[in-house]
Amino acid sequence: MKSAFPIKLSLTILAGCMLSAGAIGAQTLANDPATLARIRDSAMQEDWAYARLADLTDLVGPRLSGSAGAAAAVDQVAAAMRKIGAKVTLQPVKVPHWVRGAETAELVDYAGRPAGITQKVVLTALGGSGATPAAGLTAPVIVVRDFEELKARAAQVKGAIVLFDVAFDQEMAERGHAGPAYGRGSNFRVNGPKVAAEMGAAAALVRSVGGADYRIAHTGVTGLVDGARIPAAAVTAEDAMLMTRLSARGPVKMHLTLTPQTLPDADSFNVIADLPGGDKADEVVIVSGHLDSWDLATGAHDDGTGVAAAMAVIDTLNKLNLKPRRTIRVIAWMNEENGTQGGKGYFEANKDKVERHFAAIESDSGGGRPFGVIGSVRPSVVKYFAPLQKALEPIGASMFDRRDVTGAADTSPLERAGVPVFMPLVDASSYFSYHHTPADTLDKVNPLELKRHVAVMTGLTWYLANMDESIGRTPKRDD
Ligand SMILES: [Zn+2]
Repeated sequence: MKSAFPIKLSLTILAGCMLSAGAIGAQTLANDPATLARIRDSAMQEDWAYARLADLTDLVGPRLSGSAGAAAAVDQVAAAMRKIGAKVTLQPVKVPHWVRGAETAELVDYAGRPAGITQKVVLTALGGSGATPAAGLTAPVIVVRDFEELKARAAQVKGAIVLFDVAFDQEMAERGHAGPAYGRGSNFRVNGPKVAAEMGAAAALVRSVGGADYRIAHTGVTGLVDGARIPAAAVTAEDAMLMTRLSARGPVKMHLTLTPQTLPDADSFNVIADLPGGDKADEVVIVSGHLDSWDLATGAHDDGTGVAAAMAVIDTLNKLNLKPRRTIRVIAWMNEENGTQGGKGYFEANKDKVERHFAAIESDSGGGRPFGVIGSVRPSVVKYFAPLQKALEPIGASMFDRRDVTGAADTSPLERAGVPVFMPLVDASSYFSYHHTPADTLDKVNPLELKRHVAVMTGLTWYLANMDESIGRTPKRDD
């Protein structure tokens, strides 16, 4: 106990030296607890990220790839990063340009239908959907629960509208497994329409993948290919259940109108903003979110919070006059939602520099409460993160969830090539009630959680940018 006093004293003297160094220029500091605490506390007092999120969602709004909103978002984020002194470059990427059209549906016949009655079905086209004739098409509805049932009923599929009625497992999401719950449902959204098209279906419908129960449709990308681009849409959970009940009474017929267009690929950009490093400036730590959003809402949670929090990493460090050893690179990716061309384009352009990427952080699970971080590092290096975990403990974000693969979308080419990838570990139990729906708006984001998000992202970025220890590489994969 006695020996603690001189150590404490020397730390105080050291901190004093650092403060005076700060007066004459930016400080280069190691990962000491005091600096990590200052980063955390500063992030918890700042509204800068929320202001950027408000600019993005309220002033620009929806930002689907190829849209005027996406272009305006590129300009807005680049300007905001230039304003805080970051070195901004716009990396050109070609992106899909799909535009929503009319989208209506009615059940025009079913067993027991009173004369003159039709039932409206609430739906929204899936990204990449083909179009019906302008006046719509009328066809029988075939309800299936999985691909096995679809195959077993192959004879009925040709010329029909196939509905995959697969419920989102909200209880699973509430147990902390929102991602896997979403993956189970979105498998049918991504692959179902393509398989139905191959079997000769006239159109394909999926039950919305999300936990909301306000008869709200949930869009997303589907894996249709040119030449077999049938009309494809998500119906609300309520309407899927209605069609399943009516199908149990007898044949059901739908009139469906979807008129989206697939336009030629458009020119767009990843926004890249660097905070140059010091003695290890040639090594890079990426911190990122995706700038594009679906067109139904303003993409507040998906992924405005990720972009705003990544932007705030540089703002937070600047306000503390902290200069990292490695270069911190904020990236607002373009086209995560329907093509991931931004992530692929960055990897292609930096293929010969992969080894210089120390780590990459991507936030794309919404702005729910963060509990810590997820990282695709080898088990033997987890122990190096203990000081960071300790610094995040006061805000309840001290967990380190090691995984072989994080699966973050934009950084996945880097991760496959061996770059360790990190994500904030967040409560996503209500995320899928909003994401990809018309309800993903600014009011759904809790400003306090966004502050915690910035604290986690900035603490993690700073920590990675200054580590002495090597965290190595993740195993390379070819999948
Ligand atoms: Zn997203």
